[in-house]
Amino acid sequence: MRVFQCAVMGSGGVGKSAITVRFINGSYLEWYDPTNRKQFSVDAQPCLLEILDTAGIDQYLTLNDMFIRESEGFILVFSLCQRDTFEEIIRTYDAIQRIKLPEGNQRVPIVIVGNKSDLVDEREVDSTEGEKLALEWQCSYYETSARISTNITAVFENIVRQLRRNDSL
Ligand code: GDP
Ligand code: MG
Repeated sequence: MRVFQCAVMGSGGVGKSAITVRFINGSYLEWYDPTNRKQFSVDAQPCLLEILDTAGIDQYLTLNDMFIRESEGFILVFSLCQRDTFEEIIRTYDAIQRIKLPEGNQRVPIVIVGNKSDLVDEREVDSTEGEKLALEWQCSYYETSARISTNITAVFENIVRQLRRNDSL
């Protein structure tokens, strides 16, 4: 079975771990196995996804570069309630392009995730801004809530579909 490696990246506190644990074992804010792998089916085909949750050490740029080198797909998470975290994923995107494009990758699989959609009254980033960025980067955009479990599976299915598309090129 094809094993896909993806990294969940973004500023501290945006919900990277909450999204990962919600996907891995369906719960909210519980301890989970740090190996972070899950076997599931996308479009009736099984796959194994290894998820690197860049927990707490994402501010160290050299480590960030190492995570990027080791991953094939990227889930770039920001908080819909914190504009500066939206700006931060743009920097991460630039780093991904800088590292991946010279390796001969045509299009790097990326999903942009605006998390904490349940906090409707605290929103600072508009849906149209996320959609515009996704159009520019030719990737996907989802608004999620790890807390109430909105769109979590959709994010991981999307990254698998993008990774498979690259395999078939
Ligand atoms: P990380 O640093 O990106 O891994 O962020 P965490 O997953 O540790 O989440 C940081 C905090 O944000 C947690 O304590 C949660 O309370 C909160 N959080 C995460 N996801 C959500 C969400 O979807 N909705 C709300 N309301 N809070 C969230
Ligand atoms: Mg974390």
